[in-house]
Amino acid sequence: MSHPPLQPIASLLIRRVFKWVILCVVCISSLQAWLNYRAIETNFNMAVADVARANLPLLSVAIWDIEPQTIQKQIAQILKNPSIAYVAITASTGQQFTGGDINRVASGQHMVFEIPAPADASTSVGKVEFVVDQTVLRKELLRSFIIIIIEVVILSVFIFVAVVAILRRDLEKPMRQLADFVKNLQANQLSTKLELKRIPENGYNEIDLVVDGFRTMQDSLQKHIANQDALVAERTSQLEAAMKSLKQLSITDGLTSCYNRLLFNERMPAEIQRAVRYQRQLSLVFCDIDFFKRINDEHGHAAGDQVLLTFAQSLAKELRVDVDWVVRYGGEEFIMVLPETKLIAALEVAERIRRQVERHLFIRMPDGKVLRVTASFGVSELLATDTVESLVHRADKWLYFAKSNGRNQVQPIDHLISAPAE
Ligand code: GH3
Ligand code: MG
Ligand code: MG
Repeated sequence: MSHPPLQPIASLLIRRVFKWVILCVVCISSLQAWLNYRAIETNFNMAVADVARANLPLLSVAIWDIEPQTIQKQIAQILKNPSIAYVAITASTGQQFTGGDINRVASGQHMVFEIPAPADASTSVGKVEFVVDQTVLRKELLRSFIIIIIEVVILSVFIFVAVVAILRRDLEKPMRQLADFVKNLQANQLSTKLELKRIPENGYNEIDLVVDGFRTMQDSLQKHIANQDALVAERTSQLEAAMKSLKQLSITDGLTSCYNRLLFNERMPAEIQRAVRYQRQLSLVFCDIDFFKRINDEHGHAAGDQVLLTFAQSLAKELRVDVDWVVRYGGEEFIMVLPETKLIAALEVAERIRRQVERHLFIRMPDGKVLRVTASFGVSELLATDTVESLVHRADKWLYFAKSNGRNQVQPIDHLISAPAE
């Protein structure tokens, strides 16, 4: 997903603060400058007036006594003040005394004071006119204005730097940490807690609210995922159990619980391969219940089923657990696979089973009658050149021979390894 370029919130706030600072600097310094201007101008005028007031009594006496030298001295005294560029005294007799720079008369500010008579302040003996040098005032104003600007700028810079540092530390840094954390969070890392380096003095604010909200969300997500995991694990084990029982069903005969032909075809090639590779013996016993059709016909199918079940159980009883295995190969035909067993031993096993069936296998019928059965057995031993088919075929031939030879017997009991005629 593409995003517009990132504009950190702190930078935005800093820019806004900067604009406001500039505006405040301009306004405050303008106001301060105007106030200073007023104050300096008033002070300046008062200072000039003070000069006049200080010199008026002496001038009054000097004019009254008509002492031009004293008057000139007074003028020189007045001109010592740098703010006064030119002085003109006009006595009421018409006499005029001047001093200072005549060129400034046109450009300077004129201030006129009446010179009272020494004895009677209500009558005037003349007037004194000051031409004030405005450059002094302007220099003073400029100096004051520069000081104001420097002060305000320094103050603003300090405030601005402080605001920037605070925004960066208290807003941008935690927000960036939060964003990085969220960006890099993986589903398998939900237990990782978000730890922001917060300043305790800041108290609990919106950032803490977001962090807490995030933690709550992580916890509930984690719980949800754990629940889902547990659910998935439960369903998986149910599924595995179902698959196992399905697999068991698919390889087992439903009536006798022996393995079925499908399993035989699947497992037998590997069984033969192993025996050949490690040069081990392997024998196969093919057996078939004698006159089974008659049982069905005379006692019903249910009785036949009962015989099949009991017969299969008696086969399994005589075999080695986890070594030998029994397959229901057809209707009332069973195959016993005996690994690590040579022909003579397999013949003995078959004979033992045959006797067991003959002597002990009986079914008590609902009418109280006892049903007995016998079975015939054909045994074959694995040869190096054998396939599953040839091994089964040989056992089947011996079974056929046992049937044709009178049933209820094991073959090749008298013929040992020599095959019966086809
Ligand atoms: P033989 O001694 O020559 O083996 O004779 P037999 O009657 O046992 O042989 P045959 O093959 O003629 O009969 C097998 C009978 O087994 C036929 C069929 O009705 C019966 N059968 C096959 N599967 C089942 C089953 O699952 N249940 C029952 N009750 N009978 C079955
Ligand atoms: Mg039969
Ligand atoms: Mg049969």
